[in-house]
Amino acid sequence: MRVLVVEDERKTASFIRKALQEEGFAVDVCRTGDDALIAPAATPYDVVVLDIMLPGRDGLSVLRQWRKQGDTTPVLLLSARGEVSERVEGLDAGADDYLPKPFALVELAARVRALTRRGSETKTPVLKLADLSLDTVTHRAQRGGTTIELTAREYRLLEFLMRSAGRLCGRMMIVEKVWDYDFDPGTNLVDVYIKRLREKIDAKFEQKLLHTVRGSGYVLKEES
Ligand code: CA
Repeated sequence: MRVLVVEDERKTASFIRKALQEEGFAVDVCRTGDDALIAPAATPYDVVVLDIMLPGRDGLSVLRQWRKQGDTTPVLLLSARGEVSERVEGLDAGADDYLPKPFALVELAARVRALTRRGSETKTPVLKLADLSLDTVTHRAQRGGTTIELTAREYRLLEFLMRSAGRLCGRMMIVEKVWDYDFDPGTNLVDVYIKRLREKIDAKFEQKLLHTVRGSGYVLKEES
């Protein structure tokens, strides 16, 4: 489960990130409305925590734009003022929930969990590519009717690759999205995990799905 947190105040953003990571969420942070606007196009999110007060484009404007583009990701709005009019405006703009500041982190985490449940009911929980499928609820992978056992990290790697199917995933991007590191660990971590994953999802099958793009990274796709 991946959460996007849009908040310009560094301290608040960092508290929220930590609290959600402790709950097992992968967390990305955006600091401006303009960055937030394009973020879901690059990475699909299960929930967005969106502050209204942002420099430049505000949270409500971002939310309206997403909804206009057909993005239905559940959004929890944060606001410095708990005014009824603002709450109504937020819900009208397409927010799924609303939390006035200051809030307790446990409450924020509980509301995010609730939204992930709501989101998974509407979104199809099974990702598919050729005869490979990955159930994002049970974390079960199958290929050609055979169940594939994955460790937690392998699951996250495969989920990321499947959600990005057909697109090139660079090593650094994988490190950021699957390990939540924002630095290069300077090891062959990604290659090691790709090798393990390949042994599980590709080795026994004629059609290979996980391809290396030399010098750039990896792509999961059906070869044409
Ligand atoms: Ca703010």
